[in-house]
Amino acid sequence: MRAELFGIGRDETVMPQRPNRLCSVSGCPAFAVPGSSRCREHQQAQRQRMDAERGSAVQRGYGAEWRRVRAAFLARHPFCVVCGEDATDVDHIVSRAQGGGDDESNLQALCHACHSRKTAIIDDRWGGSKV
Ligand SMILES: [Zn+2]
Ligand SMILES: [Zn+2]
Repeated sequence: MRAELFGIGRDETVMPQRPNRLCSVSGCPAFAVPGSSRCREHQQAQRQRMDAERGSAVQRGYGAEWRRVRAAFLARHPFCVVCGEDATDVDHIVSRAQGGGDDESNLQALCHACHSRKTAIIDDRWGGSKV
């Protein structure tokens, strides 16, 4: 009884934290960073990939689905609503960052010049700062 108690006490002092696990990336021989399932290198690699995706079209929702919506919208709205030139861009009237959706009521066809102007004036101001 006494020895058993000692044994438990000793285990706790010998292992103040959990033993390191191996990196969860298959084939990686490195130990995982405490509190993580990956080694430092793979943790960074994953974070970089997530950062890249966050800043890319995928994260903002401009994926394959949006390309299809956009193409269909341009087919029905071939002219820029501002200047009447051939439309090349589909713009969200209320930007995604502000909660706007992909339904037609929130879309407008713009030529590239007008879209750039709108983006520079409005989207930078409203969408630029993260809420
Ligand atoms: Zn690793
Ligand atoms: Zn235009």
